[in-house]
Amino acid sequence: MNILVTGAAGFLGSALANRLSGLGHTVRGLDDLSAGDPGRLANNILLTRGDVNDRPKLWSLLQGVECVFHLAARVSVPESVLFPRDYNTVNVGGTVSLMEAVRDVGVQRVIFASSGAVYGEQGAQPMHEGLAPHPGSPYAVSKLAAEYYVRTIGQLVGVTTLSLRVFNAYGPGQPLPAVHAPVIARFLQQALSGGSLVVAGDGRQTRDYVYVDDVVDALVAAMTATPPADGVVNVGSGQSTSVRQLAEAVATATGVRIEPLYRVSEAPGVSTMRADLVLARTALGFLPRISLADGLKQILVQDPRFRRA
Ligand code: NAD
Repeated sequence: MNILVTGAAGFLGSALANRLSGLGHTVRGLDDLSAGDPGRLANNILLTRGDVNDRPKLWSLLQGVECVFHLAARVSVPESVLFPRDYNTVNVGGTVSLMEAVRDVGVQRVIFASSGAVYGEQGAQPMHEGLAPHPGSPYAVSKLAAEYYVRTIGQLVGVTTLSLRVFNAYGPGQPLPAVHAPVIARFLQQALSGGSLVVAGDGRQTRDYVYVDDVVDALVAAMTATPPADGVVNVGSGQSTSVRQLAEAVATATGVRIEPLYRVSEAPGVSTMRADLVLARTALGFLPRISLADGLKQILVQDPRFRRA
């Protein structure tokens, strides 16, 4: 197939593009490189630097494309609280621009990387796709709005769409920005540099950590799956891990035991997150394969930033 991946130079986008290319597909990428690194991509992936709101560029990139994976986005929850307008422009506006271009050019399928964050605080666990979303940040609102645009425009113009609500993805190569770094990369860095594991809140909040290869499995399966009625499917590990347990797992993986520092004044976000995977199993044939312990080991083996001296 001829495929376009937006956000192709990012953490998940590059892993997906490389997998698709390895499977024999012809892959083009679009990324403005605001957070991406083109060096992650295999040589045969043609990356165009550009903004997902640039429709003329989208029109030319989409020529001959059968399937689009839409991953370009601003991805930090705390940053979205500071800059909600930017998150709306890129995550919502960029999605609408893409869907307009998809309509104009005549692409067959769009697969959108949504987020488990759209659920927000829920009484029921695990979180299933039938729950009413309670997005708790501008980031989560932007992903939910984008889901609706993808599905609605797709239905109106006859494009098959599928939104995967990815929970907390992690793995080798995950960006480690100076502020608001994702928790697993940050804990590994803090442990290996002799720093302290700084935990927001009391560390009892739980998340569903899903390994990058499992996320890519689900995205690839979405290329040929029959979308369920609402067009959204969870992608997670199906396990909930508290931040305290994560600190323990990092200590076991690295062999470095450090007492976490609990910053109780810092808001820890939603209390519990665990993906219900019943629909993922039936719609995508998805079963996560990599446990947290194995995923952490893989990072230590594959990611040069976390090699012990
Ligand atoms: P990432 O920041 O590594 O990748 C996003 C990519 O989009 C970056 O390469 C960035 O340069 C690019 N980008 C940003 N703004 C752009 C614009 N205006 N035009 C073109 N490109 C632009 O993040 P990621 O973790 O790989 O996330 C990929 C997608 O998956 C995002 O849509 C994110 O919301 C979604 N997602 C990620 C997770 C996770 O835990 N990593 C969880 C749920 C959903």
